[in-house]
Amino acid sequence: MKLSFICPCYNEEGNVKPFLDLIEKNFPITEEYEIVFINDGSSDGTLERLKSLKNSSRSNIKIINFSRNFGKESAMYAGLEHSCGDYISIIDVDLQQDPAIVKQMVEILDRTPNADCVCACQENRHEGKFTTACKSAFYKLADKFTDISFENGASDFRTFRKSVKTAILSLGEYHRFSKGIFSWVGFNTVYIQYTANERNSGKSSFNFFKLLKYGINGIVAFSTAPLKFASVVGGVAILFSIIYMIVTLIRKLVSNINVDGFTQLVILIAFLGGVQLFTIGIIGEYLAKNYIETKKRPIYIAKEIIDYDK
Ligand code: UDP
Ligand code: MG
Repeated sequence: MKLSFICPCYNEEGNVKPFLDLIEKNFPITEEYEIVFINDGSSDGTLERLKSLKNSSRSNIKIINFSRNFGKESAMYAGLEHSCGDYISIIDVDLQQDPAIVKQMVEILDRTPNADCVCACQENRHEGKFTTACKSAFYKLADKFTDISFENGASDFRTFRKSVKTAILSLGEYHRFSKGIFSWVGFNTVYIQYTANERNSGKSSFNFFKLLKYGINGIVAFSTAPLKFASVVGGVAILFSIIYMIVTLIRKLVSNINVDGFTQLVILIAFLGGVQLFTIGIIGEYLAKNYIETKKRPIYIAKEIIDYDK
């Protein structure tokens, strides 16, 4: 099998049929690919539509039916687990992402042995200026505070080799953030630009607050910087109290001023507060290490291992 499409579906009853038609228009030889639909706890007729499409002689369709809505990240993971193509393509079923672009991605992988993944970056987004500004700010923030790099506008719309799939599946963490995971596993990624179409039918399930929660989850999943915040604030407070104390002492020695109770109190509070925060920060450091360990991420990912001839 050359190609597997991974298609998460949440309340997409109006989209699955036109989506499938478009796939078949672009990929006429149905033996060369499979389509893995994940019904992510839809409350509309998505599952019935998928089943009837499968029954109407589409033998290359797999359906994974979730017991409830687990979210797109879980749907993508399940799809990857059940795919068997040499290339894997993650694509939404709402027709915002054109299967013709998957054709381009496959061609790039075919002619560039060195490339492992082709990622589509959204050029013009059909969304408000505020949302676009927030997303760009998020990418900058995430890029700064995590150990991995985030490409602005990079989406989950990607086609990649089996080796990348295996690597992604080896990260079994529950709170998944695919953009980070793709970056974390490494491999050579080619970025191409695309313009997302309007949604065919239904509405997006990601509103601003859902996106914000997703973004925070992303930073927390790949950075322990927030845990170190207490150390930094504590360190600054200690430094401030020491400088203030030295200045007060010098003033007392040189000008023989009376050090009032207020000044003594400020120095003491700043110092003790600083020490407390700094200590919390140290606990945070241990917690951070523990947090990363509990994810049980692989220690490394080898793209290939060149053994000697036996
Ligand atoms: N989706 C899903 N589970 C969810 C939310 C969304 O499987 O809980 C699917 C949805 O059916 C679509 C894709 O993920 O195929 C992208 O979702 P959506 O179009 O709502 O997001 P947007 O394109 O606005 O980012
Ligand atoms: Mg969409």
